[in-house]
This record gives sequence, structure tokens and C-alpha cells, in this order.
Amino acid sequence: MSAEPTAKQSDSTEAQPVKVMDKDELARLYEENDFWEVNTGGSTLHAKRMGGRFRNFKYLTSSVWLVLFIGPWLQWDDRQAMLFDIPARQFHIFGMTFLPQDIWMFTFVMGFFAVLLAVSTAVAGRVFCGFFCFQTVWTDVYTWIEEKLEGSHIQRRKLEKAPWNATKIRKKVIKHVLWLAIAVLTGYSFAAWFTDARDLLSRMLDFTAHPISYGIVGAFTLGTYVLAGFMREQVCFWLCPYARIQGVMMDDNSIVPSYDYKRGEPRGKLKKNSAGNDKGDCIDCGQCVAVCPTGVDIRKGQQEGCITCALCIDACDQIMDKIDKPRGLIRYASENEIARDQKTKLIRPRVLMYATTILLFVTYLAYGLVTRSNLELNVVHDRTPMFVMQSNGDIQNKYVIKIINKTTDILPIEVKLKGLEGAEITLDPAVIEAKPSVVTPVRVFVRAPRSAFKEQLQDITFEVYPKGKPEQAASHDSIFAGPRR
Ligand code: SF4
Ligand code: SF4
Repeated sequence: MSAEPTAKQSDSTEAQPVKVMDKDELARLYEENDFWEVNTGGSTLHAKRMGGRFRNFKYLTSSVWLVLFIGPWLQWDDRQAMLFDIPARQFHIFGMTFLPQDIWMFTFVMGFFAVLLAVSTAVAGRVFCGFFCFQTVWTDVYTWIEEKLEGSHIQRRKLEKAPWNATKIRKKVIKHVLWLAIAVLTGYSFAAWFTDARDLLSRMLDFTAHPISYGIVGAFTLGTYVLAGFMREQVCFWLCPYARIQGVMMDDNSIVPSYDYKRGEPRGKLKKNSAGNDKGDCIDCGQCVAVCPTGVDIRKGQQEGCITCALCIDACDQIMDKIDKPRGLIRYASENEIARDQKTKLIRPRVLMYATTILLFVTYLAYGLVTRSNLELNVVHDRTPMFVMQSNGDIQNKYVIKIINKTTDILPIEVKLKGLEGAEITLDPAVIEAKPSVVTPVRVFVRAPRSAFKEQLQDITFEVYPKGKPEQAASHDSIFAGPRR
């Protein structure tokens, strides 16, 4: 976020006459005050929608959710690019296949996002809620549709109280049809990440899909429709657990949208042609509350319901522009900056601790991805008997090797043994073809001359690799057993 003007900048303008905005506009502004609401949980809020840099930023960040709708339709190597195939216990992500054995990476991904949430909260409060959370994003889309159909926040409130007539019914029906269409699209898109998207669509349309598919799509459709259409900001206010725990992650150096009360108070209504009065910069226009999607009055200080969307900053900045005052009466600032005129400390122990943890997660993940092989190998040494002495004195051990092919192709496999000079290996079956994403078991007989046998239990290593590509080998250590020497 860009640096905002400080209270000191405001002081420099205090002695000058206050430019008063257009008389009618001012009257309109104060008239609107009758319509803005502070959230009490009793009725649906109708927030005003205003332009501004944070509003634009919110549109931009919200667009990351398009990935939900686009993701299942992307193709990679003739396969759905992102497919979390839970029945087959395979996760396909842009040509890479992850199996349950790779679950540790998933754990690190989850850990990474959890700590990222913690560090972003420590630095900038509920910034995730304000700009990325699906609840606030979907609510924003739903209220945008509502505004297009039913008009401004004032008209919407009037419409709500108006008696039912043909116009009201028409507007409400169209709105709910559009809301439901988005909810169905959301529900379907969510389900499509877990199965073949095209196949699911055709099966759902001709009513041959599994009942569970209808159940999942139906549940998500209903959830989206109810949460984004009806419960809206009440979810952020009363249900969201993150709102309850954010307090422990924040401190007096967290930068959140804040009202500069030293500069704004005592607030007072702006009068036509008023000049250099003893009032603060807040003209009590109520625009900051009117635009707040959760109905918070930021002038009362930081509150649990504030999702730090910064829309009140946009609203107040526009008022400041109109009355020729510096922007930033509401701005991103820390408690230390507003209340104590101290510099905000961005680098502090808790931020450093979170950042270090994130770095560790990223390093482990990068290591996991770089060293990740397309093959995985497990070796089980047959212990009944541990070894067989051949008539010519050679020693033979038996193993079962289990090869997991993580690619999408059938791979011809070669097996190599290290650590036992002169050993011969016999495979059963003799030709190995590892099918994709399943375990291919192979019996292996290792036979070594007595002369190669140095210890009773000798360390050996098996290697498997796609034919002609030893650089893609996966290996597994085992032992070769023989009689006491
Ligand atoms: S803080 Fe700004 S937007 Fe809010 S009432 Fe005061 S002047 Fe108006
Ligand atoms: S108070 Fe401001 S930052 Fe907080 S939710 Fe309302 S508009 Fe967004």
C-alpha cells in the first residue's frame, strides 16, 4: 500500500478556508446518512458501492477465484490439468502425479498457507478477508448483481420496504435466478476438480451421474446461494472463526485501515462557506460507514467485524478531495502511528518467526519437487529362508520389489543392483512394464558367488529406471544374507 499523508500534513491546511463542495451534493451526502447502517445483525446491509484504488485492487484480487471455474477445463498431456482423483488416490497437477506417498508435500503446502495467513494478519490484519476470502468475494459479486437490478443502496432499502408489486417481483425473480445460476456454476466447478469435468457435465445433464455427485454439487450450490446471497456480512461478523483468533496474531504495529481521530475529531457537519473552523477534518458525512460491507463505523476504532477491505479509505479520500483536505483521514496505519505518533515497526520478532517458518516450508517443498522421481521403489527381502545355498556354492536371496509409476504412461523398466560384485539378477516376470499410478510387484532372485560374499549381512542397493534412462532411477537399500563366515 502506498504511503498516506500524515496528520501533520493535515495541520498545514488547518488555517486555510475550507473549500465546500457543491451545495446540492453536500445536502445529498447528509441525506444519505439516514440510510447508512451500522451492523446489528438484525437486517440485511445494503452497502454503497464507490470506485477507488482499493475497490479496483479488490476487483483484481477477487479475480484469482476465476481459477476455480477455469481450472477443471484446462488440459495437459490429454488429461485434465488439475484433477484430485480421490477414489483412485491420485492427484494430477499439470503433468505431475502425486500419490498418497507424497502426502508429506501436501502437509507442507497446508502449513505454508496457514503460516502465510498468520504473517499477513500480523502485518496487515484481515487482509485475506478483505481481498481474497471466497465469502467476501462471492458476496461482492452477488451485491453487484443486486445493485445492477435494484439500484443504489438507498433504492434497495426502499425496495425492501415497498409492498410487493409486479416490478418488485420481476426484479427479485431475475436476481434470484442469476444468484442461483452462479451458485450452480460454483457447485459444479468445485465438484469438477475431483472428477473428469467433461464427463461429469454430460452425466449430470443426462441424469446418469452418481447420486453423490448431485449431492456435492447441490450442497455447494445451496451453500453459495445462502452464504453469499442471504447471510453475507453476517458470516464475517458472527460465524468466521478467523475473526475470533485474529486478535492474537495482531499487535500495535499491525497496519490496518484506521481512522486518524487526532486529525478527524471533533467531527462536525460541514456548513456552506464555512471557513477555518475549530472542527477536525471529519465532516461526519457517513460515507465510510455507507460503503462498509460489514456495517462497521471505523471511527469507533478497530472492531472484530472489520475485514480490512479498505473501501472506507476510498470513500473518505474522495470526500477529502472534495473539501480540499489531504487524503488519509482513514488510512492504512498502525495503532502506534495513530495513537502514539511512533513509527510502525514492520520487522519484529513475530513477523521474523513466521517468515522463517514460511522459508522452511518453501525450502522443503522445493526440495521435494526437485528430488521427486517419476518412479518409487520399495523392496521386501524374503526371510523364509533368508538365503539358499546353490549346489555350486553360490548364494541366492529372494526379494519382492514394488515399483510405483507416477507418470501417465506405461513404462518399460530396467533393474540394476549395486554393492555386490558378480551378482546376477533374475526377474519374474522377465519383462517389466509398470502401469501408471499403480504398484507393479516383481520377484527378484539375486545370485552371487561365494567369493563376492564378504559379510553375513551385506548392504546392497536396488535401482529401477525407465528403459534407457538411468538418470531417472529410483533406488532402495536392502541386504544380501548368507551363512556365517
Ligand atoms: S471519516 Fe471521512 S468518510 Fe467518514 S464520516 Fe468522516 S469525513 Fe466522512
Ligand atoms: S471498516 Fe473499512 S476496512 Fe473495515 S470492513 Fe468496513 S470498509 Fe472495510
